[in-house]
Amino acid sequence: MTLNPFETVRETVETTQTVSDEVKTTTCYMCACRCGIRVHLKDNQVRYIEGNPDHPVNKGVLCAKGSAGIMQHLSPARLTKPLLRSGPRGSGQFKEIEWDEALALATDWLGSIRARDPKKLAFFTGRDQSQSLTGWWAAQFGTPNFAAHGGFCSVNMAAAGLYSIGGSFWEFGEPDWDLTRYFLMFGVAEDHDSNPIKMGLGRMKSQGKAKFVSVNPVRTGYSAIADEWVGIRPGTDGLFVLSLVHELLKSENIDWDYLTRYTNAPWLVIDAPGEPLNGLFLRDPDGNPMAWDAASGKAVNALSADITPSLVGERVLDGTRVVPSFELLARRCLDPSYAPDAVAEKCGIPAGTIRRIAAELAEAAFKSEVELDVAWTDWAGRKHDKMIGRPVSMHAMRGISAHSNGFHTCRSIHMLQVLLGSIDAPGGFRYKPPFPRMTPPHPAPAGADSKPNTPLTGMPLGFPLSPDDLIINDDGSPKRIDKAYSWEFPLAAHGMMHSVIHNAWAGDPYPVDVLFMYMANMGWNSSMNTSGTLHYLTDRHENGEYKIPKIIYSDAYYSEMVPYADLILPDTTYLERWDCISLLDRPIGSAHGPADSIRQPVVKPDRDVRPFQEVLIELGVRIGLPGLLTPEGAPKYPGGYTDYMVNHQRAPGVGPLAGWRGTSGNEHGRGESNPDQLKRYLENGCFWKMDFSPDQMYFKHANKSYLELAHKLGWIPNSNQIVMQLYSEPMQRFRLAAQGHGDRQPPDALRDRVETYFDPLPIWYQPFEEGAVNLTDFPLHALTQRPMQMYHSWGSQNAWLRQITAANRLYVPDGLADKHSLNDDDWVWIVSHHGRVKAQIKRMAGVNGETVWTWNAIGKRRGAWGLSDDAPESKKGFLLNHVISDLLPPREDGYRYSNSDPVTGQAAWYDLRVRLEKCSADEAQETEPRLDAVEERPASANRPAILSYGANLKATPSKGGNLEHREWIGNRQEYADQDTGIRPGHGNSIKTKPGSDH
Ligand code: SF4
Repeated sequence: MTLNPFETVRETVETTQTVSDEVKTTTCYMCACRCGIRVHLKDNQVRYIEGNPDHPVNKGVLCAKGSAGIMQHLSPARLTKPLLRSGPRGSGQFKEIEWDEALALATDWLGSIRARDPKKLAFFTGRDQSQSLTGWWAAQFGTPNFAAHGGFCSVNMAAAGLYSIGGSFWEFGEPDWDLTRYFLMFGVAEDHDSNPIKMGLGRMKSQGKAKFVSVNPVRTGYSAIADEWVGIRPGTDGLFVLSLVHELLKSENIDWDYLTRYTNAPWLVIDAPGEPLNGLFLRDPDGNPMAWDAASGKAVNALSADITPSLVGERVLDGTRVVPSFELLARRCLDPSYAPDAVAEKCGIPAGTIRRIAAELAEAAFKSEVELDVAWTDWAGRKHDKMIGRPVSMHAMRGISAHSNGFHTCRSIHMLQVLLGSIDAPGGFRYKPPFPRMTPPHPAPAGADSKPNTPLTGMPLGFPLSPDDLIINDDGSPKRIDKAYSWEFPLAAHGMMHSVIHNAWAGDPYPVDVLFMYMANMGWNSSMNTSGTLHYLTDRHENGEYKIPKIIYSDAYYSEMVPYADLILPDTTYLERWDCISLLDRPIGSAHGPADSIRQPVVKPDRDVRPFQEVLIELGVRIGLPGLLTPEGAPKYPGGYTDYMVNHQRAPGVGPLAGWRGTSGNEHGRGESNPDQLKRYLENGCFWKMDFSPDQMYFKHANKSYLELAHKLGWIPNSNQIVMQLYSEPMQRFRLAAQGHGDRQPPDALRDRVETYFDPLPIWYQPFEEGAVNLTDFPLHALTQRPMQMYHSWGSQNAWLRQITAANRLYVPDGLADKHSLNDDDWVWIVSHHGRVKAQIKRMAGVNGETVWTWNAIGKRRGAWGLSDDAPESKKGFLLNHVISDLLPPREDGYRYSNSDPVTGQAAWYDLRVRLEKCSADEAQETEPRLDAVEERPASANRPAILSYGANLKATPSKGGNLEHREWIGNRQEYADQDTGIRPGHGNSIKTKPGSDH
């Protein structure tokens, strides 16, 4: 027998060394996933970060970003003190001031606006995670002009889901990783939904029972481990999905029972063209929608239990012609224009592939049913002894969302899932609590009633159900600075941050007095038309006044936006503050139960900075916002943000944190405030979670036990069944207004637009930029994705993450590269109708043949983020945003719409069309445009040339241990083992000595 010489030598890596003298739990903030972390501290310095194995989001998993949080916390780009601009805007010249002066100035600026005209404050926050606080603060202030960054990120996903199924992807839901048999993923880059997706894909792939199909023009990240990659042409996903629906309808591979039980497919739609009720649901005298009951042969309340509703069949009832909404959907999708052969060329997917995928979906859904021996009771009290599911699941993200047809594409994806009967069924897409919400969603946005010194009557962001809910003036013009909830963008449920700076500069619809922003790098990668945005920020009237008179900005870092503000309120890093990851905001629970969490300060700031949430509460008190004061006028939360986290109640018994409520601390979800609540969170690792009982796990939209629980916890207003809205009546109400019905109608110039895009059923149309430019001049799509080790612009200041990606290339498909005689590292101009940017290329096989792409937010402006003047990020890294226009080409009367989805106002980043021009030899070497370096703030002038970390944290060798330095492998230093004499190298085990630096 031949012995394996390596067999007896086992790896004996010590994985639980003591590297610290204290460990504190908190929540990661290196991306939006909000994993639980354990921060190891030594001498009150951050020593090491690991995943918290008990945490419901990541179960101990930590990604590259998360572990590199140390260098984010130690970034030389950290702001150190409040700053007041001393030179012209954009120069970066500031003087340091004390907090008292900064807060007094902000109070003066903001207080006078509130007393005069609150809407003259535009308050917009970026990728922060405290939107329930910031939105509430804006409502207390009385300005409708509030939003966070969803308008340029994912509102198409959120709105389409909420108006269709009462939930959506990512934070709102997840695939049933363990039971799914077919997983279709659309347009997801690696940074969004990072650890949860990775863990889920890992589980699914290791079980080997499911097929994973990735639909994405670019084969990176998750696509690389897909069983099949479908390299679709950008902006055609909706067409592809409607073609799949066409095939499924044709072959009658749809779940009839699911449709009749859980959706509005049987609801009767009035067919009376030209009449004011055309396209609305037939309703009984109590307002209930009606369906045709085949058993009784009459129209009945569609919400009744135990009816036998018809899904097809046109009828005339009391002189009114009606048809079930399903029949309208089927007529639409069975149209030959959606047949695979008709769409194949546009989508860049062979017709045979579309047909095969449709057949595979049908096979997985209807031939691989999942049965769980779990009894449950539906909303009507009917008992079911099993849970039977269709194991097809889907996930989509920004690649779908960031197109001008994204809302309808997202609706199409949900329609596909509903037709297969897989929403919240075993093996399908599952809601994460507090979803599903009622659909159509509620409440409507507040803000039409903005008055001096008066809070709004509700929250500024909401969900219009008809033109009556728009935030507009009597003449139909927008009341919000970003034009959200106007006739241009009626369902802009996340606001339109990408339009604010342009509109404030143009005074369209009116000028503002103060622009107040938090964590939004609008001076660079968060803006379309970056150079134009910098112009808007610095442009002056003839009298020398800035067109945007005052800008307050809060951030922890010296980003490209900082030099363009007048007053800087420096924030802490995420390891230095309390935070609240709330069910009122962006949930972190799973399909198995709700969860929320906190951040605690694990170290004290060593600079004169304050957590933004604390500052916001302090400013609110100084301005006199009623919600922050007692009736006697004293601060209501004298303990600051932690006081607010524990004692604020949004509704009776419902506060920012759901865990350990009530005076005894034993109530969850709903209960009085508990003074010991934060202590209980700390004892539990900074998170709270609650598990659903097995009978509450699926069919939550129609599950009596779940619905009663959700109602009790305040997530839904009643425990009625949530009926999925394949056919959208709110959309039809807008369309009717455009057709001349009702008191509120769009201005004539917008009638066609509203009528076209407010289709009650999902549609596909060509993305706007593609229809507006000459495709011979601009034959290519250009996209951005983010690498999984970076999250937006945050990563490029991080000394560890920069070592992975410090400059981006333009990835060019091989065929196209051949056509342009391009080789790796050649320089090209990327030219759009809006501008040109210069970049180096890399050839790539796994990308759609008509598409080029790059990593986003790697290219940086010189002088920002504490980077040196010759940093690769500014010399070779480039920003595609320079060639993305914030406005569409002018319509006939010269007016230019925002480059956004016409339903939700979502920024259409991915509609970009370009051509490539090879650079001559003398043009190469550096990216362009290369803007002047911003002047550095004083504190960063002492930035070390090379950042090193941890030398002072090394353990002292114990017992005279031989810590002779050998070599580095990865990030682990290897040492000779003085006991065994084993040396690192071929065939030897590697031991990491206790206390060594690993
Ligand atoms: S996935 Fe995001 S939240 Fe989780 S560890 Fe990584 S960076 Fe942190």
